[in-house]
Amino acid sequence: MNILVCMKQVPATSQVEIDRETGSLKRLGTQAKTNPYDLSALETALRLRERMGGRVTVLTMGPPQAEQMMRDAYRMGADDAVILSDRKFAGSDVLATSYTLSQGIRLLGKADLILCGRQTTDGDTAQIGPAVAEHLGIPHAAWVSEILAVDETGIEVRQTLATVTQRSRLRLPCLITVEKNICVPRLPSYRLKRETAERPIRVCGFDDLPEKNLSRCGLAGSPTHVETMFAPPVNAKKVMLKGSAGEKAAALVSVLKEKKLIEGGTGK
Ligand code: FAD
Repeated sequence: MNILVCMKQVPATSQVEIDRETGSLKRLGTQAKTNPYDLSALETALRLRERMGGRVTVLTMGPPQAEQMMRDAYRMGADDAVILSDRKFAGSDVLATSYTLSQGIRLLGKADLILCGRQTTDGDTAQIGPAVAEHLGIPHAAWVSEILAVDETGIEVRQTLATVTQRSRLRLPCLITVEKNICVPRLPSYRLKRETAERPIRVCGFDDLPEKNLSRCGLAGSPTHVETMFAPPVNAKKVMLKGSAGEKAAALVSVLKEKKLIEGGTGK
């Protein structure tokens, strides 16, 4: 089974600077780490390879400094690593990022299963995985918390959604996005660090993409317009409710009534 894992480097700190003109994060010079959800996606892929055989390829779109993340992926057990890096990709929103990633996947050839993290800890939209699948025209399932079964034709997963869990069977090729707690990612291995020290990391640019459509990449392909950026005001006023569950519920109702957040008469 050929498995492709999409991984993104995110700032290792919450103290990030924003470019007020474009509304994008200033990533250069900021310490970076692998998006934690993507480590779970990689671990899931490695465990599937152990059961099914095949190769695990990691793919990212980002600046050349993403090489560090790819080296770490090799140290966990990934077979191949590809970085999509080009100034023409700068300023990409979700639409352009997912399009470019789907082009990268097409460039690399046959992937039976594509794994993404559920979301990133910086952009946080949780949209890239499903959007990549839509560009590729393949089935997808988001928020997967367990792999129930897998064979050469399909995969059965449990999705933990907002109020229900759902079992879904998808035929291959398909894409799933995984929860952080689907598994515990292994630590990088010292043996693999030595064995993969010289392994190349493939870097591809705009000119390598199958379609070479500039109007769908970077700022040109990004219809999202950031109107304004601001830190939300901190409301430190808290009301602690005490007592039994019933007493707390009654106290909560009167607080909400007082603030006119529910109707006074019935409290409903
Ligand atoms: P999510 O949808 O939350 O991620 C889900 C999963 O998708 C991840 O766990 C991972 O598996 C996969 N994934 C997400 N991003 C990548 C990636 N890049 N490579 C591989 N896998 C990935 N970001 C920049 O870095 N530079 C910019 O110049 C820039 N400009 C922007 C301009 C605008 C107007 C906007 C709105 C956003 C911009 N962004 C930029 C942010 C960029 O849109 C997001 O980083 C990108 O869309 C991913 O979204 P997300 O972080 O919410 O991913």
